[in-house]
Amino acid sequence: MTLMQLESFAAGQWVAPSGKVRKIYSAVTGEEIAEAGSDKLDFQQMIDFAKQKGGPALRKMTFHDRARMLKALATYLNDRRDPLYELSYKTGATLADSKIDIDGGIGTVFVYASKGRREMPDAHIYPDGDLEILSRNGTFLGQHYCTPLLGVAVHINAFNFPVWGMLEKLAPTLLAGVPAIVKPATSTSYVTEACVKMMVESGILPEGAIQLVMGGTGDLLDRLDCQDVVSFTGSAATASYLKSNDNIQKNGVRFIAEQDSLNASVLGPDVTPKTPEFDLFVKEVLREMTAKAGQKCTAIRRMVVPDAQVQNVIDALSAKLAKNVIGDPTAEGTRMGALASLDQKKDVLEKAAEIGSECELVFGDQNNLPLNGEGLENGAFVAPMLFHCKDPDKATIVHCTEAFGPVATVMGYRDLGHAIELMNKGGGSLVASVITHDADVARELTMGAAAWHGRLYFNNRDSMKESTGHGSPLPHMVHGGPGRAGGGEELGGVRGVTHYMQRTAVQGSPDLLTGIGGTYVKGARFKEGPAHPFTRTFHELEIGETIQTKSRTVTLEDIEHFAHFTGDTFYAHMDEEAAEANPFFPGRVAHGYLLLSFAAGLFVQPDPGPVLANTGLNSLSFQKPVSPGDEVRVTLTVKRKTKRTDEYGEVRWHVNMFNQDDEQVAEYELLTMVAFERT
Ligand code: NDP
Repeated sequence: MTLMQLESFAAGQWVAPSGKVRKIYSAVTGEEIAEAGSDKLDFQQMIDFAKQKGGPALRKMTFHDRARMLKALATYLNDRRDPLYELSYKTGATLADSKIDIDGGIGTVFVYASKGRREMPDAHIYPDGDLEILSRNGTFLGQHYCTPLLGVAVHINAFNFPVWGMLEKLAPTLLAGVPAIVKPATSTSYVTEACVKMMVESGILPEGAIQLVMGGTGDLLDRLDCQDVVSFTGSAATASYLKSNDNIQKNGVRFIAEQDSLNASVLGPDVTPKTPEFDLFVKEVLREMTAKAGQKCTAIRRMVVPDAQVQNVIDALSAKLAKNVIGDPTAEGTRMGALASLDQKKDVLEKAAEIGSECELVFGDQNNLPLNGEGLENGAFVAPMLFHCKDPDKATIVHCTEAFGPVATVMGYRDLGHAIELMNKGGGSLVASVITHDADVARELTMGAAAWHGRLYFNNRDSMKESTGHGSPLPHMVHGGPGRAGGGEELGGVRGVTHYMQRTAVQGSPDLLTGIGGTYVKGARFKEGPAHPFTRTFHELEIGETIQTKSRTVTLEDIEHFAHFTGDTFYAHMDEEAAEANPFFPGRVAHGYLLLSFAAGLFVQPDPGPVLANTGLNSLSFQKPVSPGDEVRVTLTVKRKTKRTDEYGEVRWHVNMFNQDDEQVAEYELLTMVAFERT
């Protein structure tokens, strides 16, 4: 069989392995299948290429342009999954495992593509949080803005998810506008290489947006500066070694680490074998032990269960594990494949033996491991191992040793306080789950344990049909955890994008902030348009374009009419004496919703035109009551424009209502869809 020669992609060229070449073996048969080596790479050239080509090309695009690019990329990969599945079998993964990796990775890109368009502006700069008023008259304001880092993101990935591990970092990085150099773990890097080849072939990414290192990183980390990011997934030992690199320290290079984690799953005190939560707990643990043969950073390593349920859990899990068919991932009936390499097998067996020195093995016999399929004697197969820790207070190894395979330990707790103590003994984890139907239990565990865990996953009979699984990091939710888990944070929606951006506190006048952010800031100069804004198309409208309406008097008859017409006869509008007794009102006042209706009546241009629909209203506040006899007028200002389709876009308007004394009485943001063309 010819060996795959795994190529790096550097400065726009595919580079074959050379120098000290590393051999890669099939996890299933043990035969040599590929070679990788990066000795020939010029890492400074790669950094320069990213900074000179990839970065500028990406930054020229808006968040929406980059989101559309991600969507096209995800669609392209989605149509080409089969060759990736084929390769993935060699890593020991079953088809179900590969779907977690490949489909999960592509799904993550789709989610970022969608979030980029829904939650970020069609602009080059991302406002973070609200405007800060820093002066009495509003002439000096502050806003936090995120802009893309001007460097390169170096992604160092773990072996267990050669596709998801790359794409979950790549999607937020590219959406941020930052180019990436991807370095997969060598043992499964042939799957990553194939996926990168597809991305490059697609022509969807600008030149320099992605480069690939197949092998060691040489002096790459010595050449980074504070505009670069290292995002690492792997062992705590490697993370600590890389983090302590002199250059990383000296130049304050951002280092995001996602490393070992002794994830716990707690069975609530309310659960017994008679409640649906018991089976749910067993199902979740079984899935976490056997999916990817337990090689998931989020897999359950420690089960924390009420003392009274320890034996029931061991019995139920052992019965399920006994039915788990292990073997060739391509063979019919196989439920669990191999570990990713013989090195991993050795590592897992060693770590399991350490755990076994203080815990009793209650299920799992390495010497009697029937395998489904042929020619598997040199494969990296292990039997699932279930341990029972009788004294979890005294035990230490079980709380700090991650056997990165199908290995988990059951331990009993006396009360909730004890359960919390055991959960937290992991020293910081990516995820902890709690199976309970009792909201008080959920609250107490959250207060006691959330600070030690990056994600808390609660599940019970109400959510089990739709829940996403203890071990699934979702692009919408933060992935990462404190302490042993690395102290890093990935994903979490737009949060994950900002990890590749600099948040800068920008201070200045409303006009300048409007110019910088491309969004109208209150207090900035109005622009007068040539015609009523409702007659203007999406592209014609300018940020800051404003109409100021004439005034209208609000009468008692208006208030009475509105009250009886709508049924809102609340005393503040109808009963002078009762309203006066209310500290907020001088007497009877106009309904807030009446004022909104008057505002529309004042600013609307009624004829058919480019404004297609009113789709919502945000941040409505009333500052001052309006009494009968008061006059109101409105300013309507184009605040932000966002293309939505090829035919129309969303226009957000800042609406201000004033009284006859020029005091603001109401303020809100109005959302409309406006066509590109007049019909
Ligand atoms: P490693 O920490 O050995 O490797 C992780 C990544 O770092 C790989 O891409 C590896 O590349 C790279 N790397 C290793 N040394 C260096 C170096 N000196 N300079 C630059 N890059 C380097 O972890 P493994 O992937 O081998 O997994 C080992 C253990 O880590 C597992 O058994 C498990 O305990 C833990 N792990 C935790 C995960 C989590 O998410 N919590 C995920 C995966 C693993 P290369 O392969 O070429 O050496």
